[in-house]
Amino acid sequence: MKRRSLDYKSAIKPVWCAGCGNYGVLTAVQRSLVGLEIPPENVVTVSGIGCSGRLSHYLNTYSLHGTHGRAVPTSVGVKAARPDLTVLTVGGDGDGLGIGGGHIPHAARKNADITYFLIDNRVYGLTKGQASPTTQRGETTKTSPYGAYEDTLSAVPIFLAYDVSFIARGNSADIAELETIVTAAIRHRGMSIVHVLTRCRTFGHQDLLSEKAAFKPLPSGHDRRDKLAALALSYSTEPVYTGIFYQVNKPTLEERLQADISKAESDTGGRPTPVEDLLKSFV
Ligand code: SF4
Repeated sequence: MKRRSLDYKSAIKPVWCAGCGNYGVLTAVQRSLVGLEIPPENVVTVSGIGCSGRLSHYLNTYSLHGTHGRAVPTSVGVKAARPDLTVLTVGGDGDGLGIGGGHIPHAARKNADITYFLIDNRVYGLTKGQASPTTQRGETTKTSPYGAYEDTLSAVPIFLAYDVSFIARGNSADIAELETIVTAAIRHRGMSIVHVLTRCRTFGHQDLLSEKAAFKPLPSGHDRRDKLAALALSYSTEPVYTGIFYQVNKPTLEERLQADISKAESDTGGRPTPVEDLLKSFV
């Protein structure tokens, strides 16, 4: 049965502001799921707190809109328990790089096969416009009336340092390119992060139309295995490159755990160990 975007649209009407960049991300993800022909019942979407976290409400998949900054570890747990499902993770710049920033390196070490959309509008939109970890230095917000005095976190270089096995950047105004990137990210076996640059129309400062002119696809000859080249390209501001910066293959969490499960089964003769015995081993 050929599915349509409508099959991935939930009955809940989005409450995002008109012109919010999150609409573009939602459309790209829905189109990608159509192209990949993944049945909606085989997808779990886990999101954190923030306007972007509402995306899990609007996708017709199983979903969990959890606590602030905890979407990544929750997704890892879902994938560990049900490796047969496609696990999507959604959060904003505050959720992913502020409150939940410490979870990303540890998910990357496990190389859990999850796809994380980190939607970056450089501001806390849901709570009405406070400075976030990616607010540009000097930008005025509700909490930086004289301009943000802190330096700005650079997402892609951070993910490269963590050795996330698939790292890409897109922008929510180019839905066709974003769909291509999202599809490659979901297909990737291991942890993939798509850093989506977007706008908060209500509290943000970016003029997306002028930014759109600054975006450029990565050079066609870019070798995705070359981390140092990816690092140099990721820092470029004129242009701001989009596309897949880095992609390597390594064992996934599921493969690593399966080896341990097989060994434990052989050690115990396949008999489950009572929980009481496990607890006693810590006494
Ligand atoms: Fe989008 Fe900003 Fe409105 Fe939130 S406040 S829905 S991020 S435009």
